[in-house]
Amino acid sequence: MSGTGSRPGNPTFAPLSYAQATMERIAILGSTGSIGTQALEVVREHPDRFQAEVLTAGTNAELLVEQALEFKPNAVVIGDVAQLDRVKDALFPAGIKVYAGAEALAQVVAMSDVDLVLTALVGFAGLRPTLAAIEAGKTIALANKETLVVAGELVTKAAQRKGVNIYPVDSEHSAIFQCLVGEWHNPIEKIVLTASGGPFRGRTRAELANVTRAQALKHPNWDMGAKITIDSATLMNKGLEAIEAKWLFGLRKDQIEIVVHPQSIIHSMVQFRDGSMKAQMGLPDMKLPILYAMAYPDRVPTTWPRFDFAAYPALTFEAPDLDTFRNLALALEAMERGGNAPCVLNAANEVAVELFLQDRIGFLEMSDLVAHTLRTVPFDAAPDLAALIAADAEARQVAREHMPAWNS
Ligand code: NDP
Repeated sequence: MSGTGSRPGNPTFAPLSYAQATMERIAILGSTGSIGTQALEVVREHPDRFQAEVLTAGTNAELLVEQALEFKPNAVVIGDVAQLDRVKDALFPAGIKVYAGAEALAQVVAMSDVDLVLTALVGFAGLRPTLAAIEAGKTIALANKETLVVAGELVTKAAQRKGVNIYPVDSEHSAIFQCLVGEWHNPIEKIVLTASGGPFRGRTRAELANVTRAQALKHPNWDMGAKITIDSATLMNKGLEAIEAKWLFGLRKDQIEIVVHPQSIIHSMVQFRDGSMKAQMGLPDMKLPILYAMAYPDRVPTTWPRFDFAAYPALTFEAPDLDTFRNLALALEAMERGGNAPCVLNAANEVAVELFLQDRIGFLEMSDLVAHTLRTVPFDAAPDLAALIAADAEARQVAREHMPAWNS
């Protein structure tokens, strides 16, 4: 992904041969999460290629300490300041620097011995450290899609200004990126983002009214963190991905098609202006796009399971049901509106998912909450960072106050 334009493929990428590839020193923000732990599996399998230089967690001090003792990073950050002493006591003898809090997170990404920052935090919390890493000129492997949803224009402009490359980790965006390799000079006619459809594909609104948290957390193909799993069940995730794609690849809404593909084998496609379409496919395993983002432009050898056509006699495709899964329609509307609308959508959705995970609202009420918040928070067509931070805070407040009974 190029920081010098909204299209990937800065021609200044000089392909190295695998043998020449140098050690990549990585800061993994959110190392205790689903993406973070899988990134560390990649590091563990390729110690000749990757070194974990910084690890960070929100509250899971125990796993952070365990990871630090294994991977021996230069520094760790625990988001929860109250746990600083505990982590320090555990890591001081190993000579690992320990910091705490959001400010420290934004500072460690700038450390001189970090080459690449993998943003695997969840939600709005990823925005500041990602911007700080870009300002420090670090290459970004971006999993934290919310950063581009909230502030896509600011982030991509900052990347352009600093000449920073942003490589996508999300499997769909990695697929598009992989389809574009060798096509940098060819305009995209459209992309096709594939969606598994989640655990409730084919259900009616009436059937969704009483689905439980446990049912929503059972994704058919992917094992992910709780927030993105709920977003996949509501199809909000696909809406967030459409906004992410808009900024990563410089697309208009009419160039982004969403297709439900329940097998999750084709990870996404690109159609060019001659009508030709390229697809990237493989078994659903997030380690693949993580590795690709960490090692680009190389393909690093792996022994992971390979796709077998005989095991998948049919790959199927269908249109998404925007009436049942209103979150997707709301996200596409917010994308088209632009300004602070995607930021407000994201904040309301983070509150809605949190309340659903706490069994305080029902599945369908999540989109009611998002729609209400989008209607209520004033629209700002050209927000700066301060205005986005304010819009995020206001949207969270509006969402929480929408039905006071929910907060009791
Ligand atoms: P998880 O919830 O599993 O992990 C989130 C990580 O961020 C954890 O390390 C967590 O720490 C840390 N964290 C959470 N909140 C804060 C905070 N306020 N300050 C500091 N650290 C924090 O999420 P995922 O790994 O599933 O997702 C991460 C990002 O990647 C999301 O944006 C998601 O949309 C995206 N993504 C995920 C995919 C997946 O397969 N999981 C696929 C594609 C994209 P702790 O453990 O201590 O709570």
